[in-house]
Order: sequence, then C-alpha cells, then structure tokens
Amino acid sequence: MKTCKICGGEVPHGRRSYCSDDCYIIANRNRARSQYNRVSNVPLPPIKCLNCGKEFIKQPSSKKIYCDTTCQHEYEHKQKYETFSFAFTREIHTIRFNIHS
Ligand SMILES: [Zn+2]
Ligand SMILES: [Zn+2]
Repeated sequence: MKTCKICGGEVPHGRRSYCSDDCYIIANRNRARSQYNRVSNVPLPPIKCLNCGKEFIKQPSSKKIYCDTTCQHEYEHKQKYETFSFAFTREIHTIRFNIHS
C-alpha cells in the first residue's frame, strides 16, 4: 500500500503518489511555490545608485534606486533644479521667438 504524500491517506490502485485529485493539485501548487522561492533566493545583481553610481544590492521588495537616503535627496534636489532650469530656458526661447516674428 502506498501512502499519499500530502494527506498520508491510502493511495488507491491506479494512482501514483496521491490519493485524490485534490492532493495532486496541492502537491503541484507546493512544487510551483518552492520553485518560485528558489528563483527569488538567487542573489540579485547589484544595481548602480542613480546619484553617485556606486553599486549596491537592491532588495526585491524595495523600489530603491539610490545607495542611501543622502543620495536620494541629492538626486531629487538635482532633478527639481534641472526641471526648473529647463522650464526657464524654454521660456527664453519663447520670448526670442516672439521677438523674431
Ligand atoms: Zn491525499
Ligand atoms: Zn549613491
């Protein structure tokens, strides 16, 4: 007599490792999950900090793109300034355009 790997019950004749379709489905689900875990346990390649270019390991759960909060603040500050200066130059262009026409 074979015992079901999931519930430990008797496996009827003609079935392989599981007593019922329910147990078979559970087993498949468990296998899929363990495969998924194996994939996510693979060490992630380091990514480069958006601000200083230093490489660091990003946790899969985090959306971090900076090596630390100092870099984050620095970069966000820079971004804000760049957006501002871009808007400013565009304004100058518009003024020039108006003069020419
Ligand atoms: Zn079973
Ligand atoms: Zn950095």
